[in-house]
Amino acid sequence: MARGNIFVVTAPSGAGKTTLVAALLAADQNVQLSISFTTRAPRSGEVQGKDYHFIDRAEFEAMIAAADLLEHAEVYGNYYGTSRRWIESVIDNGRDILLEIDWQGAQQVKQLFPDSVGIFVLPPSIDALEQRLRNRGLDSDDIIAKRMAAAREEMSHFDEADYVIVNEHIDEAVRDIVAVVRAERLKLPTQRVRHGALLTSLKG
Ligand code: 5GP
Repeated sequence: MARGNIFVVTAPSGAGKTTLVAALLAADQNVQLSISFTTRAPRSGEVQGKDYHFIDRAEFEAMIAAADLLEHAEVYGNYYGTSRRWIESVIDNGRDILLEIDWQGAQQVKQLFPDSVGIFVLPPSIDALEQRLRNRGLDSDDIIAKRMAAAREEMSHFDEADYVIVNEHIDEAVRDIVAVVRAERLKLPTQRVRHGALLTSLKG
């Protein structure tokens, strides 16, 4: 059985990453979403074990010490990290895994798994991103300015990804991410495992 692929999706908040990933998961049953561990408090509506595994700082630090995390980073004063054991068991079973993490985590995953596939999701413009944040009506000008600064920092790492999806029209962006996942499965090393008998027979 071919090992599953690791897809790492990175985006600034407001680029539509969550919608895009949800649509991919609905369209492709072979992709599983990694549920991260975090020390941040749950937001209203978030569910333990579904959106995140919410744990405290001491528990998180124990996971770091035990090398239970594949990658971790501190974002806005909270820890976020990905379970090593769980990811490995998913890909060993031939399923693809998708990580929604920040640029710091994406760098660590790329180092550990050079074949992992980085996908950067961008808004069509910086102004459009700011407009989306304002249209949510959730934040004051002050907070919006902070979010925009964080978004610019995140977006400056776009060139560390293998694929860039500009999310101007969500339907098109969904087709793009579905296409990336399908294309990766057609790469020769994977096809050699999946269609071993055929490919070997062609070499006489
Ligand atoms: P939020 O608190 O808004 O859910 O996420 C804040 C940031 O942390 C986002 O950029 C998100 O992609 C990132 N993040 C979520 N989970 C992980 C993780 O497991 N590792 C890393 N490095 N970043 C994460």
